[in-house]
Amino acid sequence: MAKKLDGRQLANKMQLELQEEVSRWSENNQRLPKLVVILVGEDTASQVYVRNKEKAAKKIGILSEVVKLNDTISEKELLSLIATYNADDTVDGLLVQLPLPKQINEEHVLLAIDPKKDVDGFHPMNVGKLFVGSPNMVPCTPFGIVTLLKENGVVLAGKKVVIIGRSNIVGKPLMHLLLQEDATVTIAHSKTKDLKAETLTADILVVAIGQAEMITADYIKPGAVVVDVGMNRNHEGKLVGDVNFSEVEPIASFITPVPGGVGPMTITMLMEQTVRQVREENQKRSL
Ligand code: NDP
Repeated sequence: MAKKLDGRQLANKMQLELQEEVSRWSENNQRLPKLVVILVGEDTASQVYVRNKEKAAKKIGILSEVVKLNDTISEKELLSLIATYNADDTVDGLLVQLPLPKQINEEHVLLAIDPKKDVDGFHPMNVGKLFVGSPNMVPCTPFGIVTLLKENGVVLAGKKVVIIGRSNIVGKPLMHLLLQEDATVTIAHSKTKDLKAETLTADILVVAIGQAEMITADYIKPGAVVVDVGMNRNHEGKLVGDVNFSEVEPIASFITPVPGGVGPMTITMLMEQTVRQVREENQKRSL
């Protein structure tokens, strides 16, 4: 039976450590980190994600501001608001919740955010830094996955990792983070000819496809580590991953549950990247 990669437990531990760190700064009258989240429109899922980010920030002691904008806002207005927050020295983290309404070009928005405040790690400058092997701000889900694996003692160097899914927010950045850790990485996607032939070679399998419980026991090499990024509703309305947990758990060595696996890590890495800038600044001041 596989050991559970408990993202909720690790996230709680890391958030507590961040909280202790921030409260020390507060006691010493040092500067506190601030996160600004811009939410455009009324997308239900986005509202939930933003609320969860605000909750985590509050718990840690990160100052947070959620800017709610009408979905009729023009691209020009949004870009000018981003410029205001870029210029505000009290703001350490700035993110615009995706997706955006049709009249706004997502690429223009990501390019407008100051790369130093880009806690989501989506700015092309940060993407490029990750690509050349000197990562700074990195996408939070892949960062959370690598942290969860390393903290559980999963060795990455020399391992064969197969990632199913090639999105810009999960699959592609994860490939680069794993290369940094000396893993051998294959990315599969919907056009991969024989998916099972690929996954059966994986010491570590990461699944990020958005298809409820598609990955069954016959895709898994016995003893593999299985990371399930998927968040889907099944026909009963229950939250499930991309992996059929009950089938895969008996043959894997480690497995992430859904919920309670990758999800809580994602939000924690966002908080970590917000706190990091201020940590460096406060450390320099106290030298
Ligand atoms: P995307 O829809 O952007 O990408 C899905 C990827 O999976 C694509 O590369 C697609 O291939 C591939 N794919 C889809 N169906 C198949 C299939 N049958 N066989 C092989 N490959 C397939 O999704 P995201 O990366 O944004 O998200 C993936 C999942 O992870 C979703 O369930 C999402 O909700 C979840 N998620 C969870 C997060 C968390 O914090 N827990 C954070 C982000 C996402 P192709 O490129 O060829 O179309």
